[in-house]
Amino acid sequence: MTAAIADERGVIVECPSCHQKNRVVYSRLRDTTRCAKCKTELANVGVPVEVSTTAEFDSLVSSADLPVVVDFWAPWCGPCRMVAPEIAKVAGRQAGKLLVVKVNTDQLEDLGNRLGIRSIPTMAVFNEGREIARTAGARPSSSRPARCPWSRTSA
Ligand SMILES: [Zn+2]
Repeated sequence: MTAAIADERGVIVECPSCHQKNRVVYSRLRDTTRCAKCKTELANVGVPVEVSTTAEFDSLVSSADLPVVVDFWAPWCGPCRMVAPEIAKVAGRQAGKLLVVKVNTDQLEDLGNRLGIRSIPTMAVFNEGREIARTAGARPSSSRPARCPWSRTSA
């Protein structure tokens, strides 16, 4: 399994022993959870979570009890595919400490626009519902200021 799916309340995790699908709610991602059916202990989510609606994203980011690292990507984006395995490794290593979420900006165009995502891949970190950090990948040259601020005196 390379990614987990989610709904508006939590991440859907399949039990490794009985394959029952369990929902780990966003506010309890740090806790130890057990399968509702066979009581096997479920590992913390250690794979990137794909959100498919903006409502899911908003619910996740506002109620997660862990910092959330969001990877904004699109299927046609080559650099996005290159960073994907690294992002998956981070998700595995930091299971229970942070949650990695993938947002397909083609699918969730409204969300990308709202958050001002202008280039991909873009990585953003949310904590307690607020964005605290962002790094963009390849920056289009058009995003550079037209002139450097120190040239102002000569203008
Ligand atoms: Zn089970």
